[in-house]
Amino acid sequence: MHDSLTVMHGFVGRQADRPRPPHRCLHVSAQASNQSVPDRRPKPQSVTAGHPDKTCATCGRTITWRRKWERDWDNIRFCSDACRTHKPSPQDLELEQTILALLAGRGRDKTICPSEAARAVARAQTPSAPEAPETWQPLMEPARAAARRLVAAGRIVITQGGRIVDPSTAKGPIRLRLR
Ligand SMILES: [Zn+2]
Repeated sequence: MHDSLTVMHGFVGRQADRPRPPHRCLHVSAQASNQSVPDRRPKPQSVTAGHPDKTCATCGRTITWRRKWERDWDNIRFCSDACRTHKPSPQDLELEQTILALLAGRGRDKTICPSEAARAVARAQTPSAPEAPETWQPLMEPARAAARRLVAAGRIVITQGGRIVDPSTAKGPIRLRLR
């Protein structure tokens, strides 16, 4: 299940080359619409064969115990080969810090779009073309992964339509809020 999720989110190299649809922010005003939102509320941590779920140290998604990991489950930190070879970089950590700083600046119970963190980090890296999409769009999936890691660390929650959702399965535009 995790391999398919990983591929769907474009973390695997050959999939990441596909053009992505342009990013759409799910702004607060859009949340007021009465379109139905699928139930992606976080599930309680599940336990498989006596082994509680873990969180991938790279992408922040849930890792469910599998029999092939019977011997080295204690050492498993990544959900896939892609995540094992792409450990969080200084830029990934900067995205985490930027998300927390933006949320702290906005105030309690306010939300941000992960693209705001992507743009802020891109602005700092490329002051010559601060708003060019090619500078910040590549940071979108890293920004979402940073948000998932912050959820795992208990710092923030991810919401859609004002409701807290499961970071592992949330698809489409998300908002971030301090926990
Ligand atoms: Zn992962």
